[in-house]
Amino acid sequence: MTVWETLVGQDAVVAALSAAASAASAGLASGGGAPAAARAGMTHSWLFTGPAGAGHQDAARAFAASLTCENEPPGCGECTGCHTVLTDTATDLRTVQPEGLSLGVKDVRALVRDAASAPTAGRWRILLITDADRLTEAAANALLKALEEPADRAVFLLCAPSVEDVLPTIRSRCRTVALRLPSATDVRDALVREGVNEQVAETAARASQGHLALARRLASDERVRANRAAVLRIPARLGRVGDCLAAAADLVSAANADAEAANAERDEVETEALKTALGVGATAVGGKSRSARAPKAGAKGRTMVVRGAAGALKELERTQKSRGRRTVLDALDRALVDLAGLYRDVLVQQLGAGVDAIHPDHCVEAAGYAAACTPEQTLRRLEAVLATRASLARNPGLVPLLAVESLTLALRDT
Ligand SMILES: [Zn+2]
Repeated sequence: MTVWETLVGQDAVVAALSAAASAASAGLASGGGAPAAARAGMTHSWLFTGPAGAGHQDAARAFAASLTCENEPPGCGECTGCHTVLTDTATDLRTVQPEGLSLGVKDVRALVRDAASAPTAGRWRILLITDADRLTEAAANALLKALEEPADRAVFLLCAPSVEDVLPTIRSRCRTVALRLPSATDVRDALVREGVNEQVAETAARASQGHLALARRLASDERVRANRAAVLRIPARLGRVGDCLAAAADLVSAANADAEAANAERDEVETEALKTALGVGATAVGGKSRSARAPKAGAKGRTMVVRGAAGALKELERTQKSRGRRTVLDALDRALVDLAGLYRDVLVQQLGAGVDAIHPDHCVEAAGYAAACTPEQTLRRLEAVLATRASLARNPGLVPLLAVESLTLALRDT
């Protein structure tokens, strides 16, 4: 399976990237080096954009693999070059992804330093930034300098939801690769190829609205299916004020549980790894004891070691907290997209629009809601859901529970 086959419903993108990878390979093979590759269509900075689920990070990684590929045409998916990139073990690939809500200058400086060194195994030194929309201002400025004067064999691959999410000074230096959401048919066919039952694949493909990774989870994970069903029951629960508040609390606690499940194991592994690296036992953080592995310094030295360890562990705790909050917001956003999809289905029924439902397995409920209100009310409810999504995305300080409570109350009173 070539690296391009993993990009579902992205024919135009695959054509552009495989052409660039071939040009890069031919330019270098001709002995002209990076300048010849550039003349043949290769460039140092790429910006991959696309809505959540379109797979812009997958596309960036597939391109990175094709630049490292040892075969012709590049991107075989089988050779060591392709394999090491796809498993993130390639020596010439450096990936930077934010652990929390933003990507700081420290990480980007390390990346820029790395970009200056020559590739060790392959032909290119590849620097992948998975969430270029979360660069802090200082980080973006540090990156800009590297993009202005890139090292001969360095290739920067930036990923963001849209070009508008990246500073104009940065995006003007990048060649943009815009991915689109694959159609439900594309997603369904991909799931069926992966061995999913046809009917399950159909429902998952439609409910995920083109989000391939989510479609995979819906098709395989019972908990994800149960969460979605709970979200789609919300409109039926909004009777009294207390019911609205309870529905909001359930929605937020499901998102918290999702985040907990996703992060708990990783947090623990990271904390243990850091403690081992620092040579401290669990109790040393409080400064009351030291482990057998702590250096045998004098009393003053020991205090400094313990303080240093406590600082590093606090820093890790902060990172994990920030990542946890990010995961909660992502889960909540997904729930709101499902809810918006349901109101959209209700509106489609009220208007007799005759287009496919997003939640085909909830058509009966949608028909019930459609009979109980006017299209104007449905539209206002849909807008309320989308407005809550936008404000949660815009205001990192917003308390999710308060935002969702005012949403469920607005849905009832509209
Ligand atoms: Zn290969």
